[in-house]
Amino acid sequence: MDRYLVFSPETFIFYDKQGVCFYHSLSHNSFETKHTPFIDNILLPLSEDPRLLYQTRISSIQYQQNQFLIDKLISAGFAKIFSSGHLYSPSYPPVIKLNENLVSIIKKVENGDKGCLLKYVHQLNLFLSGDKNKSPFSHQVPFPFSPSNIEIQGADLLRFVANLRYCPINRINIFPSKESDLIPKKNYIEDLFLENPNIFIYLAPGSWTTDSIMAVSATYPFCHVIITTFPARYDKRLQAFPHLFLVDSTVALDKAERIPIRDKQIVPIINQNDGFFENYVFTQREEILNCGKRDIFLHQSLNSNCFGHLFVLPDRTVCGNLNGDTIGDIYDSPVDLVYRELTNVHSVWLKTRPSFSCPDCRFNRLCPCISNYELWKGDYHMCFNR
Ligand code: SF4
Repeated sequence: MDRYLVFSPETFIFYDKQGVCFYHSLSHNSFETKHTPFIDNILLPLSEDPRLLYQTRISSIQYQQNQFLIDKLISAGFAKIFSSGHLYSPSYPPVIKLNENLVSIIKKVENGDKGCLLKYVHQLNLFLSGDKNKSPFSHQVPFPFSPSNIEIQGADLLRFVANLRYCPINRINIFPSKESDLIPKKNYIEDLFLENPNIFIYLAPGSWTTDSIMAVSATYPFCHVIITTFPARYDKRLQAFPHLFLVDSTVALDKAERIPIRDKQIVPIINQNDGFFENYVFTQREEILNCGKRDIFLHQSLNSNCFGHLFVLPDRTVCGNLNGDTIGDIYDSPVDLVYRELTNVHSVWLKTRPSFSCPDCRFNRLCPCISNYELWKGDYHMCFNR
């Protein structure tokens, strides 16, 4: 008796040379197996051609020869089996390609409709002073540059931000290197707040005393003040602020865990510590098999870690990521800057694992997007599958 095997539209079939992974995007069930002629010739083509309706007729002999696999696919919810003559709904493989949507957005903009392009700026990062080349950590995590004489002028920045007025930025991060960065800019920080109430000021205690941190939070009570790493001597008054503890060793990790602050994030950094970093940051298999349909589609088209972030540097240049190309300066229109990032062949916003770093790995759409650590180090396989 012939049967029909019908896959669920939530089931993805990912494969590479080494094997095949069936993945259910709602239950997050996964099943990995080796290539067989039945999988390669019968099942894989179903995932690539929607006209096949994600179903195939299976003869009794095929069923007997592949019973273990078929029973597994059914019991784990990847597919159902129907006897011929039995009514069942058609199904479609999840094969949407968002890349084509991006191309159409860019084409639309080329034809003159630039109005909606600014909506792609989700975060604006403002480095008020300092030298990015001397900064040890800002290429990996949100962190101010080391102090230097390069400094952005308030009037220039204000004009740039005013041009973003109709852009729904959902967060503004301000990175002052030293105390004198903030005070002359008080007016425009207040103006920024009128535009967007989600302002975060990042302070690295090396160049800030506890008193000056308290003064910043009193002067800008509408901003979230975040302290980015251990102060040299810990003052209990700092417990009131959210902390980003940057850790590069197990000793630093233990210390950060013991500091009694409720609102803290512990963030590993690369600092000549490959062993530590490998243990705490490399993606594990169970972490990637935990991904919804929306993220799978996003991962094939854009880098959701970086997409929509603009960085304004103290020398007035602007980039889409500190590890990417400069796309202009603050005298350019923000619409043009976003357009340049979206159309740059090296765009970090569009660097994905399937198209850039891991085209041959079957997990490339399940894996989290390329991180700043990888971009900075130029090592794109920080995972169990090295
Ligand atoms: S980082 Fe690349 S090689 Fe490693 S699991 Fe993810 S996609 Fe595969």
